[in-house]
Amino acid sequence: MDEKTKPEVMAQINHQPPLFKGWMDAPVDIKPGIFCYAGKPQNLKYVDLPNPREWSPLDKDWKLPSNWKEIILEGLRERLERFRSLKIFMDICVRCGACADKCHFFIGSGDPRNMPVLRAELLRSVYRREFTKAGKILGKFAGARDLDYNVLKEWWYYFFQCSECRRCSIFCPYGIDTAEITIIARELLNLIGLNTDWIAAPVANCYRTGNHLGIQPHAYKDMIDFFLDDIEEITGVRAEPSFNRKGAEILFVTPSGDVFADPGTYTCMGYLILFHYLQNLGLDLTWSTFASEGGNFGYFTSHEMAKRLNAKMYAEAKRLGVKWILGGECGHMWRVINQYMDTFNGPADFLEEPVSPITGTKFENAKTTKMVHITEFTADLIKNNKLKLDKSRNDNLKVTFHDSCNPARGMGLLEEPRYIIKNTCNHFYEMPENTIREQTFCCGSGSGLNAGENMELRLRGGLPRANAVKYVNEKFGVNMLACVCAIDRAVFPALMDYWVPGVGVTGVHELVSNALILEGEKQRETNLRGEPLPGMEEGEEDV
Ligand code: SF4
Ligand code: SF4
Repeated sequence: MDEKTKPEVMAQINHQPPLFKGWMDAPVDIKPGIFCYAGKPQNLKYVDLPNPREWSPLDKDWKLPSNWKEIILEGLRERLERFRSLKIFMDICVRCGACADKCHFFIGSGDPRNMPVLRAELLRSVYRREFTKAGKILGKFAGARDLDYNVLKEWWYYFFQCSECRRCSIFCPYGIDTAEITIIARELLNLIGLNTDWIAAPVANCYRTGNHLGIQPHAYKDMIDFFLDDIEEITGVRAEPSFNRKGAEILFVTPSGDVFADPGTYTCMGYLILFHYLQNLGLDLTWSTFASEGGNFGYFTSHEMAKRLNAKMYAEAKRLGVKWILGGECGHMWRVINQYMDTFNGPADFLEEPVSPITGTKFENAKTTKMVHITEFTADLIKNNKLKLDKSRNDNLKVTFHDSCNPARGMGLLEEPRYIIKNTCNHFYEMPENTIREQTFCCGSGSGLNAGENMELRLRGGLPRANAVKYVNEKFGVNMLACVCAIDRAVFPALMDYWVPGVGVTGVHELVSNALILEGEKQRETNLRGEPLPGMEEGEEDV
C-alpha cells in the first residue's frame, strides 16, 4: 500500500479549510497518468496552428511566445464579444454548488478543480480581474486573480480533463454549460500552441486524408473488402458496396474508428449487411473514401478548425451529386452536425430533405442539415416491418445501453437506439435512471482524451459509468454494453476490463446484423465476431 494511503496516515488529514487560504493559493500539480502528451510540431504546422515546437507538460518552460498573456487576453476579449453565452456564463454563476458533484472526473478523482463550478472558475477568475470593475478593484476578495504562468498551466491541465460532456449543465439552475466554457478555454490555449497530440495528430490526419487515422483512400477500401470476406464466410452472402459513386441517392459517412478498430469494425460490418439487405428494396447508397470520417477532432481545438474539417462532408455530397447524407454511429459527430453544421457549412440547399427510399418516411428533423442518424433510419425500417429479424440469434447477450453524451444531450437521440435493441435482442436491461438518458455518465475519454498515457484519468473518469454497468451486471447478468459512438466503442473495452471484467462492448448495428435474416444466407453458426451463435456451441466443439 502506498505510504500516503495507509489508514493511519489518512486518519490524520485535517478536513477543515485553511484560514485565509483558498483554491487559488494551491499551485497546480501536473501528474503523469492524468494528462495527454503535448501536440507535436509537425501536426501543428500541418494545419497552421500557432507556436509549433517540442515541449512537455512536465517542463518548467513551455516555450511560449513572449507576449502570450496579451494573446490570451485579447482572444478572451474577442470571444466575450462574439459569444453572448460565454459572457452570460462568466457573469451569472451564483456558486450554488448544484453542479459540483455531477462531473464524472470529480467523482472519480476527488480533485476539487474537477468540480464543474471550479473548472469554470479557473477562467472566470481571470475574466473578473481583467473585465469587471469589482475584480479590478477588489482582486482576490471579488474572486479575481491575475493570469500568470501557474494559472495558465492550471488551465491546460484541467481544461483537458473535461470531456465536454455537458452533464453538469443539466443540473445547473441557470443552464450554465461548463462544456462551452471548456471549448472556449481550449481555443484560447491553442492560440499560443498549447494542445495535446491526441487531438493535434487526428486533426492533421483528417485534414490530409479525410479521416483521423490518416488512412489513404485505397487502404480504406481494402479494409472494407476484408469485412466483405468475413461477412461472406459467416453468412454465405457477398455484399457489394459502391465507393465514390456519382449520382447515388445517399452518401454514407461514418467515423473511421469503425473501419479500423475492434469492436467498432463489427458495427461497420453491420452497416454493410444492412445496406446489402436493403439494396433489393431500393436503397441507392455510396460510401466515400474521401469523406471517410464523421468525427471531428477539430471541435476539440477551435470552432474554426471544426468548421474546416466538417466542410468535407458537404463538399463530397456536392461532388457526388447525392440527395442526402446518412451518418453512422458516432458521438461528437452528431453534436457538431446537430448544433453547428448549418451555420458552419450550410445552408446545404443543394441537397434534398431526406426521405427513406424504403418506407417513404420524411425525416423532418433533418430538414436543414440533410443528414439522418442511422439509428433513426433503422428504427423507421423496423417500425414499418421492413426487416426480417431473428432476435434469438442475440440470446447469448444480456444487453444494456449507454447513452453517449453527445447524441443524448446534444441531439436528444434517446428512443431510437433502445427501440432497435429491443427489436433485435430478447434480453435488455436499463442501468439506474440517474445514469442514463439526459443524465448519462460520460465514458471518461471523450473530447480527445482517449489516449494511452492518461489511462489513470480515463479509468477514474469512467468509474461512475462502469459502476452503473456493474450494477446491472450483478443484478441481471448483463454481459454486453451497447452504444452508438465510435469513441465509446474504442474506450469501453479497457474500462470494462478494469472495473467490470466480462462485459463486452458493441455497436447497435452489430446487433441488428446478427439478427437480420438475409435472402440466400447459409445457416449461420457464428456471430460477426466468429463466436458460436446460441444453440451452435456444440458445433464449435466438433470443429
Ligand atoms: S450549478 Fe450553475 S450556478 Fe450553481 S455553481 Fe454550478 S454553474 Fe454555478
Ligand atoms: S462538461 Fe462534463 S466533464 Fe466537463 S465539467 Fe461538466 S460534467 Fe465535467
